[in-house]
Amino acid sequence: MPSETPEFIEDLVEWYQGVRRTLPWRTSRDPYRIWISEVMLQQTTVAAVIPYYDRFMTRFPTLATLAAASVEDVLEYWAGLGYYSRARNLHRAAQALQKNIAASGSFPQTHLELLEYSGFGDYTARAVSSLAFGERVGVLDGNVIRVISRVDGRRSEWWKPAERKILQARADAWAAEKKCDPSDINQAMMELGATICTPKSPSCMLCPLRNACVAYQHRTGKLSPSALPLARPRRTLEIWHWKPEVTLKKGAVRLIKNDYAPFLKGHWILPGTATIKTTKPKRFHLRGSVTHHDIYVELPAKNQNTSIRSRPSPQNECWIPLQNLKAKVPSSLIRKAIDTTLNLRTK
Ligand code: SF4
Repeated sequence: MPSETPEFIEDLVEWYQGVRRTLPWRTSRDPYRIWISEVMLQQTTVAAVIPYYDRFMTRFPTLATLAAASVEDVLEYWAGLGYYSRARNLHRAAQALQKNIAASGSFPQTHLELLEYSGFGDYTARAVSSLAFGERVGVLDGNVIRVISRVDGRRSEWWKPAERKILQARADAWAAEKKCDPSDINQAMMELGATICTPKSPSCMLCPLRNACVAYQHRTGKLSPSALPLARPRRTLEIWHWKPEVTLKKGAVRLIKNDYAPFLKGHWILPGTATIKTTKPKRFHLRGSVTHHDIYVELPAKNQNTSIRSRPSPQNECWIPLQNLKAKVPSSLIRKAIDTTLNLRTK
């Protein structure tokens, strides 16, 4: 089955061309604009992304402007989207791409070339190469996995590499329909998953794939739309007790490159200690979560000695003026820890 191109691809594309939403990144085939939108869309929904995307594009309208910006500037315009390592990789990739373009004169056009850059995973590379340059490869995001699983009636453990390979081959087979532009095929699959073949209560009666869909034919049971795709087992939450130190000097707060906590890896963070727990700690002032880390924050006591205990190398330490915190420190948990400590100290 993986190598067969289904017969309904032309119907799917025709449906898409009739219903496609007008979105800011769909106004051109500019690879830079498509790339930024695809990375942002991995974080959240289309509606939530649009204001971030517009703001980002106003500040960094071209690859050259993004490559020339400082990483702090990029993080400031990413703040609110989460997964800050993606913003850092995006920036690093923009610099490498810009260098490459200066040497070769063009943006890399195939997914294999794009995969050489740190900001491109398999999904993003395929999305950019097919949407911007028409490379005939399929894309595999959550929407596409859902559509393929239901249409084919596949009860696969799609989060496992071997199964993903099979699903990827299936998505490639869909994109192989020569009568249609692969950009349209891939966007049609994603659009169908986002608007019709939704996780809960899919609108099968409006679906152009209804006649070919195994899940639709089953309606109930193990192969029904509500049973597919299989639910990914949840990663267990880890409880962490974080005791940050808040040291101030001339209106600036001391941060270090995170070398001790498993959450916010690679970020500027307050120095301190982080200990894994089996139950919620008795004493804490704040609670926050970062991915699968459930973090209980115990702030320094009012009269805690704030002299500097550890002294990392200068490039791993910085002092951020309090008025620049929001711009320079994207993590709301760190900002809350600082704000709450300052409030406690003034009481
Ligand atoms: S018929 Fe229903 S389950 Fe099948 S692809 Fe369409 S919306 Fe999804």
